[in-house]
Amino acid sequence: MLKVNEIFFSIQGESTSAGLSTVFIRLSGCDLRCHYCDTTYAYYEGKKVSLEDIIEQIKAHPADRVCLTGGEPLLQKESLALMRSLCDLGYHVSMETGGHISCREVDPRVRKIIDVKTPGSGEGNSFCVENLDLSDVNSEFKFVICNEEDFYWSDKFVRTHRLNEKYEVLFSPMFDAISPRWLAEKILKEKSSARLQLQLHKYIWSPDSRGV
Ligand code: SF4
Repeated sequence: MLKVNEIFFSIQGESTSAGLSTVFIRLSGCDLRCHYCDTTYAYYEGKKVSLEDIIEQIKAHPADRVCLTGGEPLLQKESLALMRSLCDLGYHVSMETGGHISCREVDPRVRKIIDVKTPGSGEGNSFCVENLDLSDVNSEFKFVICNEEDFYWSDKFVRTHRLNEKYEVLFSPMFDAISPRWLAEKILKEKSSARLQLQLHKYIWSPDSRGV
């Protein structure tokens, strides 16, 4: 059984899979408290659902991509079995994690979107360094940039660990706080190897984007 907050079908807004239709499984619970968190409702709310029922709900949607998100999916050990089963069924599986828990036991077929929490998140220094040394390279590292200090902190982290040589590196501006243009100019000026990522779903589903 897993405690599930919601299962829904939507457009992936983040990572290198942004723009693709995906079924999301939002698991309940998180032990971090990023001050920009937009899923605080998932900290406690949810109900227990068996793996079989979760898979049946996923099958009801016309998608071959599934993303486990949260909350923090790795707080519930059964999420590992769910990801394995979904991979065996032929789904492209991804998982979004806060980066503070080791991904070592995650099936190597799963695309791992691993946050590196910046100082501006309020959860800096939470990163689990084991995640830099996974036996597979099926990972992307995401930094949410909240201010200028975060940009330089993240840029140094990427260069120090030579992250871009093995992985996709994503810099995402904190929504409604940092302008995409500011971050784009910073990336260009500082010759950063990061990919600029916007939270596509927030633009698609914002009230301002209605109409044809
Ligand atoms: S890790 Fe994600 S779910 Fe947890 S507090 Fe931070 S933003 Fe929210």
